[in-house]
Amino acid sequence: MNTGILTPKQAAFRDEYRRNIASWYNGWGHLLSIFVPGIAVIWYCTAHVHEPTVWEWLFVIPVLVFYNWNEWWLHKNAMHRPIRGILMPVYHRHTHQHHQYFTSQVMTYDTNREWRIVLFPPYALIVFMVMTLPAAFVLGYLWSACGPRMRATS
Ligand SMILES: [Zn+2]
Repeated sequence: MNTGILTPKQAAFRDEYRRNIASWYNGWGHLLSIFVPGIAVIWYCTAHVHEPTVWEWLFVIPVLVFYNWNEWWLHKNAMHRPIRGILMPVYHRHTHQHHQYFTSQVMTYDTNREWRIVLFPPYALIVFMVMTLPAAFVLGYLWSACGPRMRATS
């Protein structure tokens, strides 16, 4: 049930978008396709942490802040600005579809089938993970190289 005011253009866009969602689509399945690999990667990574110090646990805070900032930056600079190449579909989907479907006046959905426009497509999770790998490898290398020395001096 929508509580805001749908403009005729937005209502028409929503109707058209809903009609074009594949009949086999299921919002819960979509959610799980993102949630399960995400939890699996978190589990895999934490399983490889051995005897962390308090300082190593506290390092999680700046990492979360950095990733939150990074998401904001990508949203601002890649999802709201057309950039030729691999990011153009992201811009189109987000700016032309997502923000037409949801406006500041109408931010609700009626069924989980509409999660199709709420959630990132499953392949995006893989792209995000791949984009993160270089920084993760560098950080992991530096951390592993410095960790034993930091422990020896503390
Ligand atoms: Zn946006």
